[in-house]
Amino acid sequence: MGVGGFRTWSGLGGAALDLVLPRECGGCGRIGVRWCEECAATLRDHPIRLTPRVDPGAPAWALGPYSGPRRRSVIEIKERGRRDLAEPLGDAVAEALTHLVRWGELHHPTRRPLVLIPAPSRSRAARSRGGDPVRRIARAAREVLPTHCVEVHSALAMTRGVRDSVGLSAAARATNVAEKIAVTRAGVGLVNRHVDVVLLDDVLTTGATAAESIRALARIGIRTNLVLVIAGV
Ligand SMILES: [Zn+2]
Repeated sequence: MGVGGFRTWSGLGGAALDLVLPRECGGCGRIGVRWCEECAATLRDHPIRLTPRVDPGAPAWALGPYSGPRRRSVIEIKERGRRDLAEPLGDAVAEALTHLVRWGELHHPTRRPLVLIPAPSRSRAARSRGGDPVRRIARAAREVLPTHCVEVHSALAMTRGVRDSVGLSAAARATNVAEKIAVTRAGVGLVNRHVDVVLLDDVLTTGATAAESIRALARIGIRTNLVLVIAGV
């Protein structure tokens, strides 16, 4: 067996390795990289202001519309368990927060701590996807921001009886989550603290989940400064 045999072996080894480590850009599918420069640049764009059908009760912002690398990466991390995308998405969220601070939408975190609250997800869904992706993204964002001024608290949880909202109308979505989001112990710990609160989610569709989350926090006196999502539909 000569060089040809070795090549065959190394080719198979490479293919096996690709099964273990996804080598496909999570934003565009380009082979050989986890996250390409072009997709990184697209997600670094200025955040955009959204006008959801259901008023969430706080200004809503997105990294951009639900298209291109934003759409693909959300699907990859949620449906295909691409945990490795939490890091690039966290970078993009950190970048957006930096813009929002610069634009005066948030206090500078050195003056008032910034609290990122991952929007609640149905716990069974989060478990089956290998952990809550939004919480991972929030933690990744905290790592690249001045970590002593940015906190991540899982302050909200879905109670039982919330269905997957895919395919539901705006009204049905609102009923689906109404009164079904509870503040956790971590959330109660935020009462009476002078912090800026950002509710973080992957996608904002009708605004129903964001509205219900903000209402749940408001009931115990926590004001949400803004909502930030990866993509706005
Ligand atoms: Zn890409």
